[in-house]
Amino acid sequence: MVSAPRAAIFNPTIEISSATTIDLNSMKNEIKKMEKVELHMHFYGSIPRRVIQQHATPQQYNEICRKLDQIKEGIDYHDAFDVFKLIENVVNTPALVEEAAYELCLDLIQDNVVHAELRTGFKKLGSENFESYLEAILRGIERGTKNSSLTVGFVPSLRRETLAKDAIETLLLAEKHRERGICGIDVSGDIMKGDGVGMMEGIKLAHQFAFPITLHLGESSKEAQGKQLMEITSIQPRRIGHGAYLSDPVFGWVKKNQIPVELCFTSATKVILENGKVHPALQLLKENHPVVICTDNLLVFDTNLTDECFQVALKNNISIDQLKNLQEQAKQYSFFQ
Ligand SMILES: [Zn+2]
Repeated sequence: MVSAPRAAIFNPTIEISSATTIDLNSMKNEIKKMEKVELHMHFYGSIPRRVIQQHATPQQYNEICRKLDQIKEGIDYHDAFDVFKLIENVVNTPALVEEAAYELCLDLIQDNVVHAELRTGFKKLGSENFESYLEAILRGIERGTKNSSLTVGFVPSLRRETLAKDAIETLLLAEKHRERGICGIDVSGDIMKGDGVGMMEGIKLAHQFAFPITLHLGESSKEAQGKQLMEITSIQPRRIGHGAYLSDPVFGWVKKNQIPVELCFTSATKVILENGKVHPALQLLKENHPVVICTDNLLVFDTNLTDECFQVALKNNISIDQLKNLQEQAKQYSFFQ
């Protein structure tokens, strides 16, 4: 077991004068007004709480709230995945998936996010198939972004335990519906689960169809170094998710190839970083290596992109103008062009 991290989430009202608090509040307002780009966001972990509350039974909702409270306190990385299953049990029809995607877009617009990539693995809801799930998400995105300045690209996810037939079907559907905003492929899930053999059948197709790939890597200190290196060299990702625990050769590969790292600060603090560990992406940011500030899961980590930018800006002493530049750069790293 990884020891549960208990690092404090930055609270700007602690140990600072009231004048500084006002400055920080105005800084946060500036960040909120800024046009922002979100490139690492999981669908089920980002569904607005109001949607879940409306459709869950009281028992289901209490269970989800209990788990979210545990995550807020900081829990083991592997235990955090339970909450996704609980949410999936509530948002379990194409109509609800569409509604959740639609409502999520409204929240992004509220936070002045102008471009986002949304990711999720395909599901078979009841007697439905992968395609009806995909179409429900796409309908939700299309409705949610209509007549707004928000664009949302969709990035289907594979897991290391995904069966070959499911990985292949995912890629065939992604290619079929590509014109509706499917812009890349994600590799995610509990990093210690699965040997990746079936998933690689999907990766081969992703390469064949020229879909760029973003790879969750370095999420656990227990990842085998050899496996990390094998994955990054065979998958050839265009971006890395998290990258908190990269082996030296992999870290070197990321730096040499200037691979953008998706920094999800709150997520790392709650479930990834062990006590005392500083996120290496903060140092990469100081060295002008490409880094994109992201949320990972809006609901699960009770955050939004404004908060994430604010926290990283305070940690690294980043100005508003520098943050604006980071958002411009993030657009360039987007798979959705
Ligand atoms: Zn993630």
